[in-house]
Amino acid sequence: MRPRQPFITWKSSGRSDPLRVLGINPWIYDFAAFNVWSRPAGLLCCLDMFSRSGADTALADFMDRMVPGPHWPRAAATGRGHYPKTFLPKPWVLKNIPRQYSRYGLARDMSAQALSGLDPAPDLILVTSLMTYWYPGVGSAIKMARQIFPEAKICLGGIYATLCREHAEAMGADLVVSGPLERPDNWARVWSLAGRAAPALPDQAGLALDTSYYRDPEFSLIMGSRGCPFNCPYCASSRLYNGFRQADPARVIKGIRQDYERGVRDFAFYDDALLVNPEKMLYPVLDFIIESKYNLRLHAPNALHIRYLTPQICRLLKRAGLVTVRLGLETADFRQRQDHKLDFRQWRKGVANLLEAGFSRQDLVVYVMAGLPGQQDREIIKTVREVLSLGIRPELNHYSPIPGTPMFERAVEESTFPLDDPLCHNNSIWPCVAGGFSWEGKKRWQEAVQQVLQLKMTLLE
Ligand code: SF4
Repeated sequence: MRPRQPFITWKSSGRSDPLRVLGINPWIYDFAAFNVWSRPAGLLCCLDMFSRSGADTALADFMDRMVPGPHWPRAAATGRGHYPKTFLPKPWVLKNIPRQYSRYGLARDMSAQALSGLDPAPDLILVTSLMTYWYPGVGSAIKMARQIFPEAKICLGGIYATLCREHAEAMGADLVVSGPLERPDNWARVWSLAGRAAPALPDQAGLALDTSYYRDPEFSLIMGSRGCPFNCPYCASSRLYNGFRQADPARVIKGIRQDYERGVRDFAFYDDALLVNPEKMLYPVLDFIIESKYNLRLHAPNALHIRYLTPQICRLLKRAGLVTVRLGLETADFRQRQDHKLDFRQWRKGVANLLEAGFSRQDLVVYVMAGLPGQQDREIIKTVREVLSLGIRPELNHYSPIPGTPMFERAVEESTFPLDDPLCHNNSIWPCVAGGFSWEGKKRWQEAVQQVLQLKMTLLE
């Protein structure tokens, strides 16, 4: 029986006999998950491409509170927050991890109810995928979509589908797409799956996204570029997107204006390389925000490139309202870094420029990489010490092995987990640390950070 109030509705293209395309963002299956302004950006780009090509489109985001009710934990004032969760038994390969495994997001019955209310049924369903180790949610969403819409064709794309294509072929979709939809061969294959000839790709395909599917959003996203000019051996960026492209700032500004006018005050940047070539995209966008006197909060949960934190960029970011600043230091062992994105002088200068522009030390969090294959604990301690010496908070980020990256082979050699199963890419299990995750190990790290902090405070007294 269809619900009386539909939770998902069609965005009409106004065409007669349009292709109807439903996007699904599946649940997260993990040991932990927290909503840090999370949105399925790639899927929103895909829906935008279809919408501007004459299709009717709809979104079912199982990680959003699309079904109103008290079941969803209250979000913080800035839009971040917990997800509802359902405890699940651990998959066999993770059975020795001493943590609770859960499904995060909208309850399954509510998700099914929301899908069932979509009328008419879709012709084509795009299921996105994010972390490789969240694939159980992908398989489960495809199964549910198949049961509710047996006539629809299902296409699986996104990060997991791109990085683990062969594995993703077993998830039950009719087509698995690796790489961006705007690649002409992918665009043609997806339209062909739906039994139609592919129209020309719309302008700015893959660089424009549509956030209008969220009815009363607590936050929104800004994506001004795709890809990253660096090629760090532990990162998936270049595997997911070949090259670096920037959006037309007028389109980015239009998106910000539309969301602001409907009450959104928190915006998160989704770029991997936000600060690269700022004249093209970032400066016009920040100038617009400053000139229009928008009272908003900007967040940069993806690490910013410290080397590009010039005095001018820092001043503009501060004036425009950036409040969440995450910096990608990774390691302070500058002689032996595995990447080329930063040197010691750039690191110190970048932090100094942020402080000079008016950011406080409490605004900044610095990502430190831990658990890399072959990494010594003393390297991590040295990095933590360096960050704390500047009065800034370090945050340890455990390494997640990513297939196809230069570091993956080394990870396979060092890990005691079978990395051919994407479940074992999960950084929550510390895949390249001997013995994997343990609460004792976690406590040891917390105490080590605490000790360095106390030592620093004593020296300051
Ligand atoms: S700079 Fe950052 S986004 Fe770019 S490749 Fe390195 S880790 Fe990835």
